[in-house]
Amino acid sequence: MEKQDLKSMNFEQVKEVMNQLGEKAFRSKQIYEWMHQKLVNDFEEMTNLSKPLRDRLRENFTLTSLRVVDKRESAKDGTCKFLFELSDNRVIESVLMKYKHGNSVCISSQVGCRMGCRFCASTLGGLERNLTPAEMLDQIYKIQKISGERVSNVVVMGTGEPLDNYDNLNRFIELLTDENGLNISQRNITVSTCGLVPRIRELADQQLQITLAISLHAPNDTIRREIMPIANRYSIKEIIDAVTYYYQKTGRRITFEYSLVEGVNDKEEHAKELIHVIRGLNCHVNLIPVNPIKERDFKQTQMHFVQNFKNILEKNRINVTIRREMGADIDAACGQLRKSYMDEHTN
Ligand code: SAH
Repeated sequence: MEKQDLKSMNFEQVKEVMNQLGEKAFRSKQIYEWMHQKLVNDFEEMTNLSKPLRDRLRENFTLTSLRVVDKRESAKDGTCKFLFELSDNRVIESVLMKYKHGNSVCISSQVGCRMGCRFCASTLGGLERNLTPAEMLDQIYKIQKISGERVSNVVVMGTGEPLDNYDNLNRFIELLTDENGLNISQRNITVSTCGLVPRIRELADQQLQITLAISLHAPNDTIRREIMPIANRYSIKEIIDAVTYYYQKTGRRITFEYSLVEGVNDKEEHAKELIHVIRGLNCHVNLIPVNPIKERDFKQTQMHFVQNFKNILEKNRINVTIRREMGADIDAACGQLRKSYMDEHTN
């Protein structure tokens, strides 16, 4: 039988498996804290356990620990990009962003992605596999250890569609917010989705206090279908209904992400159409000038047009910010570092 990963288990499960091994209950607490508070890389580092117990753990379980293969720091803004290798040699990327209000980590939820958004580098090679809860967590653990910086906010906005890896995402949130782990507040976690409607409703029913971000990127279904294949499955109307339900259930303000692509979705008429789509919702719009990727010829909307788009929304009392571009000098944008690494290493 394949060994189970101890780091993806919640505390109850750790207790159960330790009980099966005939170990006392307090050992489970020690082991759990070694993994999720002291952030050790190996069973060997659990020094208050006897050598025979450490050996038994290794015989019975695995302990996920990512290996850093590359780290790049932006000279401009201190943003730090990490490339990690998984136990099957696949690589994923994560980003540490330092803000005045605290440190934020952007993590990946899958290796690759199957959503196929036209402007996104992460989906070019399709989906390779889901990340386990421990592989999601360890991106944060390693970044906290390596940088020596306490992580206060987590955004699930790296490679992958988190709601396409739903069960593992949920376990990840459970462990990340556990008071015996990093104890990060649900309010400091953002999950971004391209809009898997049934999953948004399921998430709403859980009534978590996390922020839900919707990658909308278009004011109507025709444009959305041109740039996001998922729009053929779910209409904007269905998405709006689902996030309205999310707000009713959780009271959490919705974030809409809108990447501006020159000539595609950035005209004044699009801003006006968008106002009608989201009118009446308690929401916030994040405008992002698209990061061009070399595989596609999408261009970034010029800044004064972005500003104009913002003004139109603001005049209609919609909360809107323009997302600061961070780490552009280190391929930090949207799957680009992993992509360039893969291109170099697979030829
Ligand atoms: N699959 C999820 C989360 C990962 S993508 C989602 O779709 O939300 C995180 C955000 O970056 C999404 O809003 C996505 O549309 C956006 N994005 C991807 N590639 C981009 C690019 N080249 N320029 C700007 N935004 C991009």
